[in-house]
Amino acid sequence: MSNTKFIFVTGGVTSSLGKGIISASLAKLLQSRGFTVTIQKFDPYINIDPGTLNPYEHGECFVTEDGAETDLDLGHYERFSNEPTSQANNITTGRIYLSVIEKERRGEYLGSTVQVIPHITDEIKTSVKHLAERNNYDFVITEIGGTVGDIESLPYIESVRQMKWEMPKDVLVVHLTLVPYLSAAGELKTKPTQHSVKMLLEQGVQPDIIVARTEHPLNDGLREKIARFCNVSFTSVIESIDAESIYDVPVLMRQEKLDTEVLKLMNVPVENDLDISDWEDFLEKLKNPKDTVEIALVGKYVELKDAYKSILESFVHAGAANEVKVKIRMVHSELIEKQGPEKLLKGVYGILVAPGFGERGIEGKITAVQFARENKIPFLGICLGMQCAVIEYARNVLKMQEAHSTEFNQNSKFPVIDIMEEQKTISDMGGTMRLGSYACHIKTDSKAFDTYGSENISERHRHRFEFNNAYLGQFEKAGMHATGINPNENLVEIVEIEEHPWFMGVQFHPEYKSTVANPHPIFVNFVKAAIKNK
Ligand code: GLN
Repeated sequence: MSNTKFIFVTGGVTSSLGKGIISASLAKLLQSRGFTVTIQKFDPYINIDPGTLNPYEHGECFVTEDGAETDLDLGHYERFSNEPTSQANNITTGRIYLSVIEKERRGEYLGSTVQVIPHITDEIKTSVKHLAERNNYDFVITEIGGTVGDIESLPYIESVRQMKWEMPKDVLVVHLTLVPYLSAAGELKTKPTQHSVKMLLEQGVQPDIIVARTEHPLNDGLREKIARFCNVSFTSVIESIDAESIYDVPVLMRQEKLDTEVLKLMNVPVENDLDISDWEDFLEKLKNPKDTVEIALVGKYVELKDAYKSILESFVHAGAANEVKVKIRMVHSELIEKQGPEKLLKGVYGILVAPGFGERGIEGKITAVQFARENKIPFLGICLGMQCAVIEYARNVLKMQEAHSTEFNQNSKFPVIDIMEEQKTISDMGGTMRLGSYACHIKTDSKAFDTYGSENISERHRHRFEFNNAYLGQFEKAGMHATGINPNENLVEIVEIEEHPWFMGVQFHPEYKSTVANPHPIFVNFVKAAIKNK
């Protein structure tokens, strides 16, 4: 295609309608027709990125190859499209303002008054266009966070209005809205949709496609009504019915012809047939598991599933790959501290100790590792989970009873996990961890090698502390081996226990790289080990 087409996805009526999943599904369908697509998210909050946000606020912080700490929707984009994203795919209001203010300080505005229009809106438009130029994408899909009518999303909607005016043939707006069902009336109601479109119109934007999220099918009468009140054609009203799984949505959007409607409205010839047979094979396996295997996820945010989004989705991919349903038992690490591990972890076939920061619940996590190690239950520790595995081994096998991470005890007699050298002088919290993709060299006589089938891998990181190499010799001698090492800095990336059926701790985050097309081998093999343990 000669020039990039821009699709904006806005949301109306309420948040949590699934703009991210609709955007990712549309990307998947366009990709399956042979187009190159990338997805971008604008977040209207003032933080520079979600890296400093508590998971209770916005769920998991997703990390890209280039080390950007981003919104969890980018995880969905990658899982659906199997394409890596980058810092340019997630922009916040804070980042936009920071860039404008820095330019102002450098004198780049040549003495003019710096204003929301045009300077902030120009900055927003530039970040959309820059992303397009990076790879000369056929389509850039930009999801605007928040709900139309929010004060903080105004500059974004205004930027969409300007872009639509400047290049009417290349810009399309998909508005996702809610059509609620009123049980007392026994009816689906279109009024909230009409109002949210009116609000968009007040801001100068006419949506081209309305995607109506609904619990019940939309009949033709309702579609006609939405079309008439919202100035779109009948075929541009797309039903988005509640689905059993987010992975059903691309198939549902294909049935509703969302992709062909987009192509038609943007005058792009439909050349290639759509082939999503790989996706359908995955769904087939997902929906027809031959067995169920229960795995415990031990963490401190267990009441909030979004905090472990990528881990949970990785289990979905790995489950399908093994043709089993992975049932996750969320276990609160603080509860393990109070009640002990036996009751809470009884009957699970695998134990995962989650990443995290801070001392709360740490002893419960260490106890969970001990339970997995002593009972020979397949174990996967991710980042902090790996560090807990190291601490546990030091305390209970190497008999260094006061072993700890200096994150939790700076005066530990045995600081088996210690702050990285480069982190010692850093005081700023935002964007300063060891972030993004780093190489790892794997020893061939290891489960890690059996898992990856390769000696050289790269995985994404997000941490400040590391395995303290001063103790490596003692660990190796006692049976915990460093089987993956960063070749440049000699950091321990993977630990394994030889004497255990399947015990792996990884300093990196495999969950960020698992996609439908490429389920992560660590999760696939961990689930396989759990099945074997049954
Ligand atoms: N808190 C630990 C560190 O900073 C682990 C981080 C994590 O689990 N992502 O090293």
